[in-house]
Amino acid sequence: MPRLFGTFGVRGLVNRELTPNTAFDLGLALATHLKNKGRVAVGHDNRTSSEMFEHAIVAGLTAGGCDVLRLGLTPTPVLSFGTRHFSCDAGIIITASHNPPEYNGIKFLDREGAGFERKRERVLERIVTGGGKLVSWKHIGHVSEADVLDSYIRAILERVSKFKYKWKVVVDCANAVGSVVTPRLLRELGCKVISMNCQLDGTFPGRKLEPVPENLGELARTVVACKADLGIAQDGDADRTIVVDEQGKILSGDRVFALVALHYLRKRKRPRIVTTIATSSVLDDVTKKLGGKILRTKIGEPEVVGEFRKRGGDIGGEENGGVFFFDWLLCREGIMTAVKFLDAMDRNGKSVSELNTSLPRYHQVKKRVECPNELKVRVLNTLSKRFAEYKLDRTDGLRVVFDDGWLLVRPSGTEPIFRCFAEAKTGGRVKELVELGLRELKLCIKAQKRAGR
Ligand code: MG
Repeated sequence: MPRLFGTFGVRGLVNRELTPNTAFDLGLALATHLKNKGRVAVGHDNRTSSEMFEHAIVAGLTAGGCDVLRLGLTPTPVLSFGTRHFSCDAGIIITASHNPPEYNGIKFLDREGAGFERKRERVLERIVTGGGKLVSWKHIGHVSEADVLDSYIRAILERVSKFKYKWKVVVDCANAVGSVVTPRLLRELGCKVISMNCQLDGTFPGRKLEPVPENLGELARTVVACKADLGIAQDGDADRTIVVDEQGKILSGDRVFALVALHYLRKRKRPRIVTTIATSSVLDDVTKKLGGKILRTKIGEPEVVGEFRKRGGDIGGEENGGVFFFDWLLCREGIMTAVKFLDAMDRNGKSVSELNTSLPRYHQVKKRVECPNELKVRVLNTLSKRFAEYKLDRTDGLRVVFDDGWLLVRPSGTEPIFRCFAEAKTGGRVKELVELGLRELKLCIKAQKRAGR
């Protein structure tokens, strides 16, 4: 059987790679894993297939003896909140995050609302392969429903005070599930919200779901045209947020994270920032400003949360705009990111561009090089020998640290490619670094191909 779980839980093309049968099997597997008792919170995004999968999962869970608390249409962070708020034994969110509408996915959360560790995912996989345990009719689980949105919004309003200024913000939820929370919450905090792509539509006609610059042109133009103070863009399940400044400039995910961290941690003593090796050096600058410590991990949400659980931390974040507020929830929190970003503007009385220029500027370039999967390990090893004279970090792939920048060469976990990523203080230097990386990488791949013949 092919592996069910990938980098982002279970994900696939609806009714081809991911079917309601699989969803049922996974629901039953979780119930079996929980020893055929307990209660599971289930929520879903607004994809056209999400309710279908929800029914199948609820059937699997109850057939395996688990009670189900149906939380309905919920962004991923809200389901994480709900799992803990209603003291459930686990949570399931049905979403394919930023993937196109024809995809869907299933993600499992533990009782603290954090994504399952790889180890537990593998346990579920084994149960699916061997077949879960159905219970007798007397032990079939009960199904109940609860509203979580109001409690979630109330909990945030208890933590964040209303803004002093009436910020004008364009909110672009991509017609996805963030629409049910983000505009409403920002209005309650005192913003003037102009909502864009905030009508729920599971075919996502407004824009592509990934909040990357090529999908945010219309938002940037709207911010400028409406003379708004900022734009907020979320991905398909609202666990990631990207910010656009008042001039229509799109901030990178790690800068959004850096600015939020700087503000969020301003009163903490020696705060600990957990981030991956792929985020900008601007995080090191922020950590220095705060007198804190930076912990760099492998790439991926489970790695960031795992590091927090092992060694502690105050905030976590990734280069794609995912931010973790560990004393709030143990998942990427795109909604709280938007709130905390506005809170930073409000308390400092500063525009997005003013906040952004208060941090050092860096240039980044990302490239890719094709490489057969079976050669990746050997290529990486020879590459690290070629860079032996520099400071190297082998946490995930190979990170070469120079005095004025860094280079990250990393094999993709899903495609036969290497990613080559460089950062430096000037445009010229970053070009040099990425070209150096590409040149050396191509030489190593060529050498390995020759050796393999
Ligand atoms: Mg997401």
